[in-house]
Amino acid sequence: MRILVSNDDGYFSPGIAALAQAMAAFGQVTVVAPEADRSGASNSLTLDRPLYVRQSANGFFYVNGTPTDCVHVAVTGFLEHRPDLVVSGINNSSNLAEDTLYSGTVAAAMEGYLLGIPSVAFSLASRGFEHLDTAVDVARRVVAHLMAQPPSRARLLNVNIPALPYGDINGFELTRLGRRHVAQPVEIAFSPRGEKVYWGGPPGGQREAGPGTDFNALNQGRVSVTPLRVDLGDPEGLDELGTWLSGI
Ligand code: MN
Repeated sequence: MRILVSNDDGYFSPGIAALAQAMAAFGQVTVVAPEADRSGASNSLTLDRPLYVRQSANGFFYVNGTPTDCVHVAVTGFLEHRPDLVVSGINNSSNLAEDTLYSGTVAAAMEGYLLGIPSVAFSLASRGFEHLDTAVDVARRVVAHLMAQPPSRARLLNVNIPALPYGDINGFELTRLGRRHVAQPVEIAFSPRGEKVYWGGPPGGQREAGPGTDFNALNQGRVSVTPLRVDLGDPEGLDELGTWLSGI
């Protein structure tokens, strides 16, 4: 079994080191990750300059690009063999509801999935990797289960782990995405030279967080496992707007 490990926090992140170590028990691991923190990069591709793949002293490879670049370059050009599994993370903080649209952690896994490979994104709901050992144990269990009982076709799974000691985890739950309120406004500040600058504000709070959602699972101390699909199409819009467009 060949496993490609990536992330969006950068190849130097404690989260990716922990995930790579956990995956070593299952097969041959290659780490290809961004050289800088590219959290929030979503599915962006670098098209305006060439990409390099360099190796760090610990054996990890790093790329001057985005999480999507890393997986794309690794699978389609850099790796000698196609991986059997792509895992991404362990991200420094959760990726829930609409976060999945912006997340580079999810994007790295999504790129694997778009290339036809089973892929899993792992995110830990703490800042600064508190209870990283819990996330490692969860990643091990998820991958062991995927290997023992593989789903009928390649899937994209978004796994979020509560920041709790492993013994306090309240089980695993298959979930759907919740919904957030709209994001908070940007914060305005001034640079030392007096220029107005804008900091991205915090995401919106939990709007749809009822039973069955990823929010709810985490709120209840459960590991949230959300199957994701890649389709921005709007079937309701298709139904409603046919008449509208015919009047143009
Ligand atoms: Mn990140």
